[in-house]
Amino acid sequence: MIGIIRQPVLVGISLIMTATQAHASDTSHYDVNAHLSPDGKLNATVTITLTPEDAKRDLDFVLAKRFKITKLEVDDAATYKIGVAETPLPDLQLIETDFPDSQSEFATLTFTYEGPLDEPDSKAPAYGPDGLELALDYMWFPLAQQINLNFSAHTVLSGLPEELVVAAQGEVERKGDTVTITRQSPDFDIPLVAAPGLSKRSSGHVDVYAPDFDYPPVENITDHAAKSAAYFEDIFGPAGYQGRIVLSVLPRERNAYARRGYVVMSEARSAIEKDPNVPAWAFARIVAHEFSHAWWMYADPMSDDFWMTESLAEYSAMRYLARGFGSAVADDLMEKRYQTALDAGPILGGGRPSSSSLYRRGPMILNELEGRIGRDTMDKVLRVVAEEQLGTTDEFLTVLEGHTEASIAAWFKAMLKTGPGPWLPEDAANTAQGSR
Ligand SMILES: [Zn+2]
Repeated sequence: MIGIIRQPVLVGISLIMTATQAHASDTSHYDVNAHLSPDGKLNATVTITLTPEDAKRDLDFVLAKRFKITKLEVDDAATYKIGVAETPLPDLQLIETDFPDSQSEFATLTFTYEGPLDEPDSKAPAYGPDGLELALDYMWFPLAQQINLNFSAHTVLSGLPEELVVAAQGEVERKGDTVTITRQSPDFDIPLVAAPGLSKRSSGHVDVYAPDFDYPPVENITDHAAKSAAYFEDIFGPAGYQGRIVLSVLPRERNAYARRGYVVMSEARSAIEKDPNVPAWAFARIVAHEFSHAWWMYADPMSDDFWMTESLAEYSAMRYLARGFGSAVADDLMEKRYQTALDAGPILGGGRPSSSSLYRRGPMILNELEGRIGRDTMDKVLRVVAEEQLGTTDEFLTVLEGHTEASIAAWFKAMLKTGPGPWLPEDAANTAQGSR
């Protein structure tokens, strides 16, 4: 639903020139200037500089309703409408943009807004006694609604208590209560962690931040972070993400997640209290999955192509498990997951696939593909997909066709469309189906 229609505010030509010169690249860019007050209120000005190509996509942006937009400026050739949205999360305001089809210069949108960073009853507040943890889930900056705008970012955040140590993508500079974060690599989020008592350990291309490296699971996670990154680099080539990979292991209990070159995990103390015998490989699998996203992160997260981010990551994690802990460990886990994979719907054809399709069925179909074309060919295919930073099924199939018979690529595509049920229709009666 669309609410009020506002007139665009004129922006001087000199500002547009400056923006064009400052970002003479092929990536859109966010300039974030924000202040966080001790009571958790955010005052922010965000300037989004869009490449002509991104501007012409007429993106819809979303921002949490709890923020009051006090000013919104767009180029004079553009218009916007403000309404409401309930996706990808509830309680959002929607800003629909319309740029001319003839757009040939970089375009800018500037949002000024203020409001509480957290919902009053939030169970997992971004800002609290554990420090600050920002990711797009908090809808704290104007985000492309389809989460399909990648951008570089320059973030200046003030009001941050000095005892909080910041872990973020790119270059991080700290001065008093202000942190400046410069990220050249494109990503669709502006994630950061600022927590008390974090110290840093570096190894290879990886920086790990944690408050307690002596806690055995943290030690274990730190070890597998560097090892899995090295393993993936060895088989998939250099990660598309330029720069160091940052991992934060935090005491809070929340799921692990990754952005480009950036991973956040939990120490999982309560899980370990419940079951002190959690095997070492369980942490290794999570670390490897999240770290592989430095290679697999190019698919549109709202589309059926998203298997190329998540199924490839889980397939890679299983490879790492087999390598580090023996193939019996990986096979056992596949066996346990087999029924969920069987019950899952198809990967292709219905927009973003279900979790069972992405994390269970997809990796098994990839494993089956590897069995058919051989590991060497599989790795050659994956190297090209990683190196060219491909994110669509069609692109994947084209690379596959270039490395194997057309019939195998056709078979693989057909398998991505199966489900629920076995993914080996032409030999479903064979033992192959039951063996995984
Ligand atoms: Zn993932």
